[in-house]
Amino acid sequence: MLQMIAKPPLTIRLCQPRGFCAGVDRAIQIVVLALKKYGAPVYVRHEIVHNRYVVEGLQNLGAVFIEELSEIPDEHRDAPVVFSAHGVPKSVPADAVARNLFYLDATCPLVSKVHKQAMRHQRKGRHVLLIGHAGHPEVIGTMGQLDEGAVTLIETEADVRNFTPVDPAALGFVTQTTLSVEDTAGILKALQEKFPAMEAPAAESICYATTNRQDAVKETAPGSDLYLVVGAPNSSNSRRLVEVAERAGAKMSLLVQRASEIPWNDIGGIATLGLSAGASAPEIIVDEIINAFRERFEVNVELAITATETEEFPVMRVLRDVELTPADMAFVNGNG
Ligand code: SF4
Repeated sequence: MLQMIAKPPLTIRLCQPRGFCAGVDRAIQIVVLALKKYGAPVYVRHEIVHNRYVVEGLQNLGAVFIEELSEIPDEHRDAPVVFSAHGVPKSVPADAVARNLFYLDATCPLVSKVHKQAMRHQRKGRHVLLIGHAGHPEVIGTMGQLDEGAVTLIETEADVRNFTPVDPAALGFVTQTTLSVEDTAGILKALQEKFPAMEAPAAESICYATTNRQDAVKETAPGSDLYLVVGAPNSSNSRRLVEVAERAGAKMSLLVQRASEIPWNDIGGIATLGLSAGASAPEIIVDEIINAFRERFEVNVELAITATETEEFPVMRVLRDVELTPADMAFVNGNG
């Protein structure tokens, strides 16, 4: 007679909010709608959002990912090209116009807001300090809104100590939208102590989605034996969530892109799992991860609701005549 082996119990504290933010959702919708309206290929400059699964899903629908506009072959000059949610330097749309390309800018409106704040500082004669991470596309895009030499990137408190401005009375700062709220507060404090006249942007740069996801992780991490954040290694906001979980008291905290990356042999006898997803991670992978735990544990999912998000960013006018159905987004949302 077959003997059933009882699975050990596991409580999953599932963060809400988690996963897609309004800016990522909009960027993916733009590519999907462009494919519906204009047909394949639709070119996309840079990963539309930092998630391999999303990129591959869009490739399957007919999107072609490129790093530079020069990669678009002459015979496809009429095909639309979409700029990613992270934003682009001003030189990129200018290049598109010079090449006679039809572009759709999927820059998140909250990133565009930071661009405007940085330009406002510059207009007022201030040197701009951008708190962020070197090499991130959003940082490249924000720096590229300003004239050469008009902005200095500050990554750490050591950078603050080493920075000597021409005029300490004419400084303004903005930040990347996806930073750690706590790390940024430390850098800002150091800047404000050193340059008391430094002007803040008119609105907070760290976006609602970053703040909400970090708050939810802070709430659910204490007492978690393991914390998993679904996200890509090049996703800034996802990596911050892993750090926040560790700091807030999770015994172990890991970033995973798919269920296949869960290190089952290393996680030991866990009883409580914290689970969240970065702003570029689709819900379908959160489901995949919960199902992988269900195969090994008797799972009880506790939804930890720390905020309600109602933000929605409409797509550009030229795509509003195309219907977006649940089936169109099933490859990321898992329904349809
Ligand atoms: S993380 Fe924030 S700034 Fe970035 S795309 Fe999402 S809503 Fe926009």
